[in-house]
Amino acid sequence: MSRHERRASLARYRQEAGNELNTYLVDPDQPLDVPILQNAARSWLDALPRRMRSCIVCSGLIWERQRVGRLLLSVPAVPKPPAATVCAVCCECSGLPLAALERAATVALQTAVPGGRFEPLDTRR
Ligand SMILES: [Zn+2]
Repeated sequence: MSRHERRASLARYRQEAGNELNTYLVDPDQPLDVPILQNAARSWLDALPRRMRSCIVCSGLIWERQRVGRLLLSVPAVPKPPAATVCAVCCECSGLPLAALERAATVALQTAVPGGRFEPLDTRR
């Protein structure tokens, strides 16, 4: 894992049954050196004017790039993940403590990994 990825990592999101996601909380303009994440983030942002989204924390609408504070990217923790999912945190909520963002992300990711919860990454030390 590169230094850049470590900095972008939010946490591992794991289900008791064994399904795992690697999650990344990133700035929308942050270049990502993982192509699948970069592509998912770019196409999500490109679709914004046509596809209105909502913030995972406050449910406020996000209709333009300027409203995006952070992106929450997640991929299955497998060697060649098939797809990445993208959620957004609005400008106002992006300043909240990581714990609050993690709580919202846990709820948002329930559809991907039901019953999952965040586990701190070793790299947080
Ligand atoms: Zn918000």
